[in-house]
Amino acid sequence: MTQTNATNIACPACGTLNRVPREKLNAGGKCGRCGSMLFGKQPVVLAPTNFDAHASKSDIPLLVDFWAGWCGPCRHMAPAFAEAAAQLEPFMRLGKLDTEAEQTIAARFAIRSLPTLILFSKGKEIVRQSGVMSTASIVSWARQNSAR
Ligand code: ZN
Repeated sequence: MTQTNATNIACPACGTLNRVPREKLNAGGKCGRCGSMLFGKQPVVLAPTNFDAHASKSDIPLLVDFWAGWCGPCRHMAPAFAEAAAQLEPFMRLGKLDTEAEQTIAARFAIRSLPTLILFSKGKEIVRQSGVMSTASIVSWARQNSAR
């Protein structure tokens, strides 16, 4: 029994960290605490209760869509971002942060325009980009920046 390739994955439903062998990430594992699928091919809704679990404690990068309900371009990009989640999981987590509902987190990262995407790895901001992007550009931008 070796644990060398285990990856910590935060559950999208309850935020509990699950240790998953890296080669089994694609196998569709479930959370040991709540039984939810660890990957649902859709972005996780981020809040103060689960933000750090996904941004800092999880071993996979977190790509966050900072958006707001009044922001037309944000609503326009939402389907592309959801589709990007289906393509980037399980080697990246995608999350949505409603900047009106969660103003403390939005202020922490000094979000000035919407939509803004920020890629985090182990709690550190790697790169950010503002403006509407297509699914293909979200996926290639995220992959490029998480690989470096
Ligand atoms: Zn869970």
